Amino acid sequence: MTTTASSLILADDASITIPRRKTRPVPVGSVMIGGQHPVVVQSMINEDTLDIEGSVRAIRELHEIGCELVRVTVPSLSHARALEKIRKTLEDTYQPVPLVADVHHDGLKIALEVAKHVDKVRINPGLFVFERRRTSGEYSQEELNAVHQSIVESLKPLVESLASQNKAMRIGVNHGSLAERMLYMFGDTPLGMVESALEFVHICEELDYHNLVISFKASRVPVMLAAYRLAARRFDALGMDYPFHLGVTEAGDGEYGRIKSTAGIGTLLAEGIGDTIRVSLTEDPKKEIPVCYGILQALGLRKTMVEYVACPSCGRTLFNLEEVLHKVRQATYHLTGLDIAVMGCIVNGPGEMADADYGYVGRGPGMIALYRGKEEIKLVPEAEGVNQLVELIKADGRWLEP
Ligand code: SF4
Repeated sequence: MTTTASSLILADDASITIPRRKTRPVPVGSVMIGGQHPVVVQSMINEDTLDIEGSVRAIRELHEIGCELVRVTVPSLSHARALEKIRKTLEDTYQPVPLVADVHHDGLKIALEVAKHVDKVRINPGLFVFERRRTSGEYSQEELNAVHQSIVESLKPLVESLASQNKAMRIGVNHGSLAERMLYMFGDTPLGMVESALEFVHICEELDYHNLVISFKASRVPVMLAAYRLAARRFDALGMDYPFHLGVTEAGDGEYGRIKSTAGIGTLLAEGIGDTIRVSLTEDPKKEIPVCYGILQALGLRKTMVEYVACPSCGRTLFNLEEVLHKVRQATYHLTGLDIAVMGCIVNGPGEMADADYGYVGRGPGMIALYRGKEEIKLVPEAEGVNQLVELIKADGRWLEP
């Protein structure tokens, strides 16, 4: 995998280097995906795109809480036309929001219309050109060539339209909807997913179009991991530096939906793969955004909140650590950029919170030691601990009003 070093400072005197797959920056409205740009957070509204008012509201609500790129679905030509009004209403009543349109079945006409109104068009190689379902039988070379040719003919006008407007395309492969030919040639495999994308990428490159973002989603995390890893190797070997969009499809809801998404997306990001992410939950899409930022923050890729370090507590803890952590969080949640530790005891606490900017450490019965970095600054009674921590941050000039 071709990588560039992006240094990440974790402490005053300690730094680690996370190698990130080298990708080209692709413009999507006012957002850049890839290169050295921060990993972009995106989501998708559930509203029917024909519901202009509801769609505008949903897009705006997502954007206001940090969703940088919003996807809408366009199952018909009238949905595609509705995007013109949606875009204009956003500009008139709010601000331009980078938009992506999902085009599915046999969607050339729809894609050409919607390309006028959005910043990126997502196509699914398995569905873009209609292929009759086959249950058995071999493909002749002529048949394979004929389908390929019809893909070239369908893709060309869309690529030309997007290229002329400097807009982007996502080639979004789904494990569950691979084309019949791909299943025939490669089976229901990560290789089939990668080859499926490559067929479209080659056509785009022949047309000298490179504003591409690629995805290889699956609902099973091991399949998704295998597909992205294989893709990273294949693309790099071919000199293709297109950014990847990461996601686990149909992750479900609740705790397990979040764990599944984090396992898939987080693992790849930790390997340096991925330039934009979507956590797909069967919940209100607004609930996806904190999960995205949580994954990025935990990996040190973006810092959008306070990083809290807290020990699990044990027999040495002489105060209710869970309660105190909650109070500290309530008092300081808005101080983005700070690392704050809450540790149960003086024996192991200071050593284990060594990277934090501030520490709240149990010092003995009813007493708390407050730390700035590795230095113990003062001893305070437990009842004053949280207030005194805030005072210390204020005295250092690092406080902001909520
Ligand atoms: S820091 Fe102290 S109180 Fe917390 S888990 Fe470790 S030993 Fe126990």
